[in-house]
Amino acid sequence: MLAIVIGLAPVAVFGVAALWARARSSRIAVLDLTALAPGGKRSKRTRAIDAVVLHQMSFSRGNDPRRYLKVTAHFIIVPDGTIAQLHPMSARLSASDGFNGRSVAIEFAGNLRSVKGGWYRPEDYGRDVLTAAQVLAGRGLLRQLRSAGIRHVYAHRQSSPKRGNDPGPEIWSTVGQWGVDVLGLDDGGEGYAIEAGTPIPDTWRSFTLTT
Ligand SMILES: [Zn+2]
Repeated sequence: MLAIVIGLAPVAVFGVAALWARARSSRIAVLDLTALAPGGKRSKRTRAIDAVVLHQMSFSRGNDPRRYLKVTAHFIIVPDGTIAQLHPMSARLSASDGFNGRSVAIEFAGNLRSVKGGWYRPEDYGRDVLTAAQVLAGRGLLRQLRSAGIRHVYAHRQSSPKRGNDPGPEIWSTVGQWGVDVLGLDDGGEGYAIEAGTPIPDTWRSFTLTT
């Protein structure tokens, strides 16, 4: 599988989708909720997919993936590590600002801390901590997407000035940076951001999760 796709980046959108369908059947478990999520969020892609963008939802509704159908992301990962697909890879979503055209979005459930240790409006959205199951699921999904042709992993922060803690240090240090170090994915490097986004801080890369 991997040998087939190496050297094809960036691959055509339908190439990724087809490879993904094959990869999905042989690797990690992904709950298919694409028939239940609102189709109005989808538009046509006009360019190849070569990236994945990581996000935190800044809220949690527990472990039932059906409680997240309105989240604008291709994939969600809930606290118990269940992965669900809400939208086809072939659909463009308004999830990641300037990365939308070329990327697949993954949203992790949870209101997760910033590097300073604080939560966003904890009285309203809770004080969550990324679970080990979410880390394992995120890595597995990233590995699968890598084998389907993805070559870049980005933080939503890099494309939006309003998303400074998205996905935040817990997700970036354990999943995003892992994708860079282990899978060889490219995050644009030090100082990389687009439009009015801000770069990934060094403190995210080296963050150690303490509960
Ligand atoms: Zn986001």
